[in-house]
Amino acid sequence: MAKFVETIIIGAGPAGMFAALHCEQKPVLLLEKNATAGKKLLIAGSGRCNITHDCEIKMFFDHYGKNARFLKPALLSFDNYQLISFFKEKGLNFFTDKNGKVFPNSENSSDVLRILLQSCAKNEVEIAYQKDVLEVSKEDDTFMINTDTDVFSAHHLIIATGGKSYPRTGSTGSGYHFAKQLGHSILQPKPALTPIFNPTMNFAELAGVSLQNMLIYLYRSNKKIAEHLGDIVFTHKGVSGPGILDFSRYMETGDTIKLNFTGLESDVFRKLFIETSEKEGKATVQSFLKRFDIPKSLVQIILKEKNIDPLETLSNITKERRIAITGAFCEFPIEVTRIGGFEMAMVTTGGVNLDEVNAKTMESKLVPRLFFVGEVLDIDGDTGGYNLQAAFSTGYLAAQTINKKHEKSENQ
Ligand SMILES: Cc1cc2nc3c(=O)[nH]c(=O)nc-3n(C[C@H](O)[C@H](O)[C@H](O)COP(=O)(O)OP(=O)(O)OC[C@H]3O[C@@H](n4cnc5c(N)ncnc54)[C@H](O)[C@@H]3O)c2cc1C
Repeated sequence: MAKFVETIIIGAGPAGMFAALHCEQKPVLLLEKNATAGKKLLIAGSGRCNITHDCEIKMFFDHYGKNARFLKPALLSFDNYQLISFFKEKGLNFFTDKNGKVFPNSENSSDVLRILLQSCAKNEVEIAYQKDVLEVSKEDDTFMINTDTDVFSAHHLIIATGGKSYPRTGSTGSGYHFAKQLGHSILQPKPALTPIFNPTMNFAELAGVSLQNMLIYLYRSNKKIAEHLGDIVFTHKGVSGPGILDFSRYMETGDTIKLNFTGLESDVFRKLFIETSEKEGKATVQSFLKRFDIPKSLVQIILKEKNIDPLETLSNITKERRIAITGAFCEFPIEVTRIGGFEMAMVTTGGVNLDEVNAKTMESKLVPRLFFVGEVLDIDGDTGGYNLQAAFSTGYLAAQTINKKHEKSENQ
């Protein structure tokens, strides 16, 4: 005989816990396959937990790629300052770093998790650990949820199983399977917030070199399809840093990224080069490039690769070599031979099709009383606290929708 519960939430990550602790109608059951809750939350921000961003909530809308519009009602229903207040009221204080990222003063994710678990307990949420949900279905008006050991039935079902990234934390993509079982379509999940690799290029000498506010172009089949501004860092086998991570949601293997180290369009750079060589013909290539604030090691490596002596005077540079210098410093190409896989991607792009979910309620448009929250949705934010905020806001909105449904039925 299936145990009946008013609301079942699958997945004790930030989205699932936040939904559970705001559900008013009892009983509320949170099913988690791991032996503990919030495994991914614990490693967020390298264990320091960049919980949200310190800026007006409308500034968030530029940080979720093409799907930001869907998130607006959720972010407005529970914004970053409400999130901070929620934890502050429970004794956890926060600071903002120079980039606007918000962290708990303790810089310890476990303090965030502790408060979430205490709040769940206060709201009489039952958390059942080591319950791996295998199948879900809807029979008449009731959801049936099969775990490896039990069968539960519920009036409301919230799927909060996360994406597919860092599968060792428990998010293995099973929510997509449940969504499909209930008639939803899934947009192909792909790794995002992940570095890119090119083992054929010699990055060893560049490893550790970082650059701020780089203009990065994305080319597919020789056509520029997007551009992005952000900080990058060279690794031993490729490129990473927030600028690459945030841009990775748009990349595919075989694409080429081009780095603009000068901030100038090629034409403008070329003209400046010609003008300078006319006025200061004796100036060296190296001294000309100094104005762009490019690390010296990077300048040396690029010039060496192009067979250009850094001490060559500008007047001695032929047109052909000027074109080579312009290309190397304004559109330095790196082929995307490999994109970091789910084992290293911080989030998943793709997931439950947003066209089939009501953005104002988080309820399925296809199956009444079914909800999707957090990263299982086709939502992925930039680095900077945007993903956790999305998880909390969507979890909150789903719970409020369920609460309002109860209020309405009680008043009828
Ligand atoms: C290394 C790393 C660092 C990050 N740092 C940050 C950061 O600093 N700031 C930020 O905003 N974001 C960060 N993120 C992203 C952020 O952690 C996620 O977007 C967020 O955790 C998603 O929350 P969620 O509740 O939707 O899913 P998850 O946190 O993935 O939780 C899903 C839960 O569901 C459970 N589950 C899955 N399937 C089943 C099943 N079949 N049965 C029962 N339970 C199931 C899982 O075990 C898991 O506990 C980081 C991610 C990674 C990997």
